Amino acid sequence: MRHIAIIGSGPAGYYSAEAAQKKYGEDVAVDIIDRLPVPFGLIRTGVAPDHQSIKAVSRRYEKTNLGDNVRFVGNVTVGEDVSIDELQGLYDAVVLATGAPHDRALDIPGSDMNGVIGSAAFVGWYNGHPDFKDLDPPLDAKSVAIIGNGNVALDVARILAKTEDEFVGSDIVGHALNSLKQSKVEQITFLGRRGPHQIAMTPKELGELGKLERAKPYVEIDDFPDIGDDAMLEPGMRKSVTHLRDFLISDPEESLKPLGINFDFFAMPIEIQGDGKVEKLIVEKTALDKDLRSAGTGELYELECQMVISCIGYRTPPIEGVPYEHGRGRFANSDGRILPGLYCVGWARRGPSGTIGTNKPDGFAIIETVAEDIGSGNRKEGREGLDRLFGERGVETVTFRDWK
Ligand code: NAP
Repeated sequence: MRHIAIIGSGPAGYYSAEAAQKKYGEDVAVDIIDRLPVPFGLIRTGVAPDHQSIKAVSRRYEKTNLGDNVRFVGNVTVGEDVSIDELQGLYDAVVLATGAPHDRALDIPGSDMNGVIGSAAFVGWYNGHPDFKDLDPPLDAKSVAIIGNGNVALDVARILAKTEDEFVGSDIVGHALNSLKQSKVEQITFLGRRGPHQIAMTPKELGELGKLERAKPYVEIDDFPDIGDDAMLEPGMRKSVTHLRDFLISDPEESLKPLGINFDFFAMPIEIQGDGKVEKLIVEKTALDKDLRSAGTGELYELECQMVISCIGYRTPPIEGVPYEHGRGRFANSDGRILPGLYCVGWARRGPSGTIGTNKPDGFAIIETVAEDIGSGNRKEGREGLDRLFGERGVETVTFRDWK
């Protein structure tokens, strides 16, 4: 029997468990350990509540969990209830599938001011993550700045812009819906430090933004390169840019919608100002350098806003004793290998990029790597040892059945 511990019950964790099940059949016992008493990680607390078709993949993970050889061990904080060293002593392989739940820091003056919120907190709040239930975002703000031009920025804007009716069929939590119903937001501004050809927003998600009941997105033609240049883009990006071009104001009726969503391109926030809470952003206009990176031009403008949500990417939290790449915010690894017997997968391995589905080949690949390393040699004690340890320490775990 092989014993594998997977830390983190999100997509990367569950695809790895499924891969181990398929690889070893009855000859494996997989424990999926999570800090929360509920499974599914990013699917539950990251994917937007109005994207139920994406969330439906959790049925596949549930199927994995209903096999006899995979068990969910919730309510366990690695580093507090059990150490990585102890897990390595008990399991043939320990796989870190801890995702990237922390925000990349917005390192500008004023970023610690009231009303400045990171996307992890805001997304966690509307998805019922227990760490963020008391966030209480200032939804009396009339103008909100969203920093970043990725899909998380789009999710955040769409959730802020939707009417109550548009949440029908979603699983948004009650506290968030109740607050959003009272929202006073009239203007949302995306700040992208580069241009329309450099966005990280995908076509389907941009298309959704154009179909909102009470909100109208708009762009300025001056920010766009010649339309002929769109032909040089790869097809997905070309579709995204086509959606953006559709946001040029053409229909005066449409622009009468009560909530405007403005795209400010070539716009780099450099300071947040306010008296105790956010009042305005100081933004520097940028231009692209020869490597298509943004470079400040020295030209400044002010954007009045009462809430700033920074959606500039995520980081994997480091774990003491585990090699870490600070620049990229992920574990230091070579194809998922960190140290003998210790691996990483998903965002913890490659950083926060790709779709949920990207984690499937990643999960299957890490189990091949594990199999190569552990071969058919001596086996460790596995879950019996873990249960004994938790019994001695009085750690109360939550099983999949408990959660159901
Ligand atoms: P992302 O796709 O990496 O986008 C981050 C954005 O922040 C980029 O526009 C980036 O601009 C900008 N940025 C980074 N540092 C900045 C700074 N210091 N100042 C200003 N802007 C900065 O990250 P994400 O939106 O968090 O998404 C993470 C992953 O989840 C992505 O793969 C995304 O596609 C995926 N996701 C998918 C969905 C979906 O499919 N529906 C939903 C949500 C998330 P530069 O390009 O200039 O660096």
